[in-house]
Amino acid sequence: IVCRINVASVRCFASQPELATHTAPSVKLLIDGEFVESQATEWVDVTNPATQEVVSRLPETTTGEFNAAVQAAKEAFPKWRSTPLPTRSRVMFKFQELIRKNMDELAANVTLEQGKTLPDAKGDVFRGLEVVEYACNLAPDLMGDYIENVSTGMDTYSVRQPLGVVAGICPFNFPAMIPLWMFPIACTVGNTFVLKPSEKDPGAAMMLAELALEAGLPRGVLNIVHGTHGTVNRILDHPDIKAVSFVGSDRAGRYIYERGSANGKRVQANMGAKNHAVILPDANPEATVAALTGAAFGAAGQRCMAISAAVFVGGIEPWKDALLSRAKALNVGPGAASSTDVGPLITPEARDRAANLIQSGVDQGAELLLDGRGVKVPGFELGNFLGPSLLSGVNPSMDCYKEEIFGPVLVCLEAETLDEAISIVNSNEHGNGTALFTRSGPAARKFQNEVEVGMVGINVPIPVPLPFFSFTGWRGSFHGDLHMYGKAGLQFFTQAKTITTNWKDTDDQRGKRAPGLDA
Ligand code: NAD
Repeated sequence: IVCRINVASVRCFASQPELATHTAPSVKLLIDGEFVESQATEWVDVTNPATQEVVSRLPETTTGEFNAAVQAAKEAFPKWRSTPLPTRSRVMFKFQELIRKNMDELAANVTLEQGKTLPDAKGDVFRGLEVVEYACNLAPDLMGDYIENVSTGMDTYSVRQPLGVVAGICPFNFPAMIPLWMFPIACTVGNTFVLKPSEKDPGAAMMLAELALEAGLPRGVLNIVHGTHGTVNRILDHPDIKAVSFVGSDRAGRYIYERGSANGKRVQANMGAKNHAVILPDANPEATVAALTGAAFGAAGQRCMAISAAVFVGGIEPWKDALLSRAKALNVGPGAASSTDVGPLITPEARDRAANLIQSGVDQGAELLLDGRGVKVPGFELGNFLGPSLLSGVNPSMDCYKEEIFGPVLVCLEAETLDEAISIVNSNEHGNGTALFTRSGPAARKFQNEVEVGMVGINVPIPVPLPFFSFTGWRGSFHGDLHMYGKAGLQFFTQAKTITTNWKDTDDQRGKRAPGLDA
C-alpha cells in the first residue's frame, strides 16, 4: 500500500490523542521516494509522555523492507553523486524555506511525541535548521588541495568524494535536530541515506522527510526505516552501508561503534554525558543562577548538553537560597501548555529511573534540597512528570553522580580550589560539555586550557557550537575521530582521493597538434 503522509495529516494525529492503540495511525516507511505501509508483524506504540495516549504505531521494519530501502539508496547514488553541487545545494535552500514555513507544525509534533515545551520544541527544529543552512553552502569547506610541480610536469591534487549509502541512528531527545545533523550534510555532499529515527518519537523525522522530498530531493536519496535493535543490527551488518552516524546512550553507542567498525564501516558515535558547571565565588550571582537552572532543568534535563552536575568552588552556601527559589518557581506540566517550564520525561521507566537515582543519592549521604518526586499535574495524572530536584553534598563515588540521570536533577559538589574542580571534571568518564562561571579572565583561560572536555562555555551554560564549527564531545561521550556537522561532519561523509598527473611537455609532444585535431 502506498500512502503519502503530509504535514496536515500529521498535525491531525496531534489533535486526536484519544486514539486507542489499534486505531492509531501507523508510521510509514520511506522507500524509494514513496511513503509505504510496513508489512511488519511487530509494532511499537508511540505515546504522548504527558498523557500515555497512543499517538501512532511504529513498525519493526522487515528484512525485505530494510533491504529494499538500502537498494533504493544504492541505485539512487550514481546519478545523485554526479548531480552538480549547486543543484544539490538548491534542494537545501528550498528545504530550509519549507522547514521555516512548517515550524509550528513540526514543533507541535515534537511536543506531542517527545513532551518538551513548545519553545523548546521550536528550538529543537531551529538548531536543526541551522545545519540545513550550513548545508546550503558547503563548497568552501569541500574544496580540495592542489600543488603544481610535485615533479617536473607533474601536479597533485586531492578531492573529497561521497562514500555511497550511509545511515543515521537517532535518539529520542531531539527528534527534529538530530536527523537534521545527519542527512542534510550527508546528502548534499552526494551520499544517499538510510535514516532510523528514534522509535519513541519518529513524527518529526517523517515530516522533515516529506518536506525534503517536496524540496526536490530525488527518490531513493533519503529513505526511512523504523524499529529497535533488529533494525540497528541490519544497519550495522549490511555490506552496502559505508558509514553510520549514531547519537544516543553509552550502551547503544559502544555497541554500534564496535559492531559497525568490525564490519568495516566508518562510525561516529555521540553518546552520554555528565556536564559540569564550575562556579567560582566571583561569578555574577543572578546571571549564574539563572543559567544554572535553565541548563539543569530546561527540556526536563533531557539534553546531552544539560548541566547535570554543579561544582561550587568555596562551597554551595552563598548560592543555595537563590538556586532553590528559582528551581521551586519552575512550573511542571504538559509541554503544550504555555505556562509550563518543565515537561514530562519520555517514559514512565525514565521517570522511575531518575527517581531511584535521587533516592540512591539520599541513601548514600547526599542532602535532598529539593525533591521533585511525586509532583502532581492536575488533568495529566498519567504523565511522566518529575519536578526539578537538587541534591547537595554529592561526591564522585555516589551513583547519582556516576550515572547520567537524564532528568531535571542537579547534583551539587563542592571544591576548595579551581584546580580541585578541574580535577573532578577531568576524572569523570564523560567529556561532552562543561561551563565555567567567573569574572576572572585568568581563571577562565586556565579552565579552558586544562579541562579535558570537548565543548567549553565561559559564562555560557550550554555551549553547543553553531554548525560551521563541529559538535566535539570528548572521551566517554564520543567514539570515532570525525565529529558531527561542520568541517568534521563533512569529512565524515566524504573520503579524500589524491590524484597525481603527468603532463610533461616532452620533445615528442612539443609542436605537434593534439591527436584527432588534424582534420
Ligand atoms: P538510546 O541509546 O536508547 O537510543 C538511541 C538509538 O539507538 C535509538 O534509535 C534506539 O533504537 C537505538 N538503540 C537503543 N538501544 C540499543 C541497543 N542496545 N542496541 C542497538 N540499538 C539500540 O538513546 P536515547 O535514550 O534515545 O537518547 C538519550 C541518550 O542520548 C542520552 O544518553 C543522551 O546523552 C544521548 N545523546 C547524546 C548526544 C550527543 O551528541 N552526544 C545528543 C543527544 C542525546
